[in-house]
Formats: sequence, structure tokens, C-alpha cells
Amino acid sequence: MKSRETIIKEGGDKMDKQSSIIENSLKAIMDDENFLPDLKSQTRDQAYKSLVSILTTPNHIHKSFLRVTLENGTVTRVPAFRIQHNDILGPYKGGIRFHPSVSEEEVSNFSKLMTLKNALHEVPFGGAKGGVVVNPKEYSVKELNLICKKYVQYFNDVLGPDKDIPAPDMGSGEREMDWMMAEFKTVHPGEPYRNSFTGKSIVNGGSEGRREATGKGVYFSFRYLMHDYANKNEKWLTENDNVFADTAVKYAKTKMRMAIQGFGNLGSVAALEAYKCKYLQNKIVAVSDHNVMLYNEKGLDIPSIVNYTEENGGELPTQEVALNDYDINASIHENDELLELDVDVLLLAALEDQIHEDNMENIKAEIIIEGANKPVTEKADKFLSDKGVLIIPDILANAGGVIVSYFEWMQGRDTQFMGEDRIYEKLFNKMKYTMDTILPQFFGDPFPLRQNCYIHAVTKLSTIMFRQGKLY
Ligand code: GLU
Repeated sequence: MKSRETIIKEGGDKMDKQSSIIENSLKAIMDDENFLPDLKSQTRDQAYKSLVSILTTPNHIHKSFLRVTLENGTVTRVPAFRIQHNDILGPYKGGIRFHPSVSEEEVSNFSKLMTLKNALHEVPFGGAKGGVVVNPKEYSVKELNLICKKYVQYFNDVLGPDKDIPAPDMGSGEREMDWMMAEFKTVHPGEPYRNSFTGKSIVNGGSEGRREATGKGVYFSFRYLMHDYANKNEKWLTENDNVFADTAVKYAKTKMRMAIQGFGNLGSVAALEAYKCKYLQNKIVAVSDHNVMLYNEKGLDIPSIVNYTEENGGELPTQEVALNDYDINASIHENDELLELDVDVLLLAALEDQIHEDNMENIKAEIIIEGANKPVTEKADKFLSDKGVLIIPDILANAGGVIVSYFEWMQGRDTQFMGEDRIYEKLFNKMKYTMDTILPQFFGDPFPLRQNCYIHAVTKLSTIMFRQGKLY
């Protein structure tokens, strides 16, 4: 797996993909005379320019160097960000990533993605993202606790249950959210604090199902498109002269070979969903993490691999382990072989920018599911979509996390909690509603699915901004 830095050094795309798709969406929307008919024609061009500049720039960039005293007594500076992109739909919302490759540019781009994701799925939140430039594995629990407390202390003015509500992202989880919520309470005595963070543990006011929500939602988006929707609309899709419709119809009935990049919270939950799925015939032939790839032509035994990772700090077994202690019933390879395998479906559940200019021509899968945020660069996205590869985009597929964060926030307000089954039912209904809105447009016109999702989200954001008088 390549890091974002490596790809940029190697000359990958440097452009901000979200902004250029936002711009294209606004062009398409402005050409549609049904969009804001009361926008006078002489101001359409102005409105377009205003919307481009508002939606492609964050409202606020908060940046700090957290002063952290390590256990050995030295003081270190840890770069940290909170970037608030847009709050027209509600309080800012988005995860905090703990990863050594975090940068201001990355956090800013992801904050845009959050605004779009929430708008697309009718979640009444704006978009923000946080980041801390650390490798959590290199710090003790006490040091991590201090980093979390410092994060809240430095950014406490701009956070809060109705201002900006962070959540977990790569490298952070329930433990960090519990710590941060506790620190928020200390810094703001007497104020409401439970809803200042989501993704907390259940005992601290978290929601059932939040931990699994992103992985379950990712697989649901795929299953809904390829099974429920494709079968129900088979006649229409078959008559449709559209390469993406052909793919949907073909794979709704055929055995699929699937490879999953990334086996953390997202990849492992999605893999289990795929393994158990009664509706689609998908066989997972490969999974990878930052060390290795496991491969079995006949299909991997996902439950036993998940058991293994749960007992071994989340890591897949390496060659050494497999030879000596553990029969994984798979061969072990270099992890970067996964993307170019001869499979039908690739589920990307690792870092961003994994499919790029240098490997896009070697991708054989006909369907790509974006579990991670922005795992395909702009150039590769265009190349693959032009080739007819059906890409289920991040903002559509991976919104399960923020949707259940919203349920957690609502439950925190009502102090009434729902059971796991009810949470999943509500999550799937919400995603189904979005997909039922987007899919007829997607299969009906020549835009890729991502562009359709952006157009929908940007139309919503622009309409609200216009109605609230923000374009004057
Ligand atoms: N970090 C997740 C995302 O990228 C979840 C954000 C949230 O729950 O606020 O969508």
C-alpha cells in the first residue's frame, strides 16, 4: 500500500478532486433551468462563481502544535488540525484521524467530503474533519490519553454538541472519544457534554451498532445496488443502453470474486457481511493489510481470519505465523498485489489514493466499492469510469459511520436508546432512500455515479444557501 506522500512524490495527482467535481456539478446544475428558477438569469453566472468559491473552501482552518510531555520526560510537539468546511446544514461533523500521513491538505479535502456526504444522505450536519499527525502505535496509552486531552483543550472553543461534533476515524475509536468527551466536560463545567463527541463506548452514551456501522453500510450499498435494485429493475436496466446497467444486470446473477484492501474496523466488518450475504454470490478470494495479502482461489474463511485478527492486535497473520502456529488456509503474498488481481470486485478499505495513474491500467475489477475516503485519484477515477468500471463512491458507500453518529447524537438528546436491530434497520432505510433517489438518475444518464451523488448534494447545499440569502 502506498502512502499519499509517496504517490505525490512519484508524480500522482495533486489536484483537489472534490473541488473539481463540485465545480463540474455546479456547471451541470446551472445549465438546468429548473434549478432555482427565481434566480434571475443575469445573476446565474454570479451565483455559480459564488457557489464555487464557497463550496470549495473551508470556513475555518484550526491548526495547533499540541505540547505533549512523553513518559520519558521529554516534551514533544504534535501537529493537529480541525478544519470546518461548511455548516449550512447544521453543526460541523466529522472524524479525527490519527495517522502519521495526516496533513492540512488531506484534512481539508476530507472536510469537504463530509459536507457532501451529509448533504447527500440528508444528515442534518455540516462537514468538518480533524487530524493528529501521530502513529498511535508509537505512543503509550498514557501519552495517547494526554494527546486526546490536549486536542480538546486547544480546540475547545470551536467544538461542542451544537457547534462541531468530532467522531472516530482511522487510528481513533471509542476509547479516544470517551477520553475527549470527558475532557470537554472538564473544560466546560456545567454545560451539556454527552453529545460533544460521537462514536463513544456504549457505557458513555454511545450507540449500539456505531462500531460496525461503516462496514455494514459499505456492504449494504453494494448489495442494494447489485441485488435489490438490479433485480427489481432488470427489464429497465437491460433495455438501457448503458455500460453500468449491463454490469449491474450481469453481476446480480453471476458469481463474483472479491478482493478487499484493508482489514481494520471497516474492511473486516464489510468482509463478514460479504461472507454471510445470502443474496449475492460473492466469494472473497483476497484480503490485505499494511503487512501482507492472504489469498485463496476457492474463497477465504473470513470468520476465522477475523477471529485471528481480534486476538492479534488487528494484524493479519504473516508468513512466519502461518507456517509455525496457525493454519489460515491461504497463501501469503505482498499486499500490493491485491489491487491488480483478476477479480470482479475490489473493495477499498484502507488509505486514500490507492488507485492512481501508475496502476490504473492494471486494474481488472469491473466494480469498485470505495469504503475508504477518496481511495481513487481523480485521474484514475476518470480513466476507470470511461472504461465502464462501476465505482460506488465514498460519499455514497461509507456514510454508515456518520449516519449512526447522527442516531447517537439524537439518542443522546432524547436519552432514549435503540437496540442494534433497530439501528441497522434505520441505517439501511436511510441509505436505501438515498440510493432510490440517485440510482434512477445514474442509470438514466451518462454521468458516473460519483458525479450524480455530487450533483444531488451540491444542489441541496446551493438551494439552502440561496434561500438563506448567503449568495448576496
Ligand atoms: N470518520 C467517519 C467518516 O469519515 C465518521 C464521521 C462521523 O461519524 O462524524 O465518515
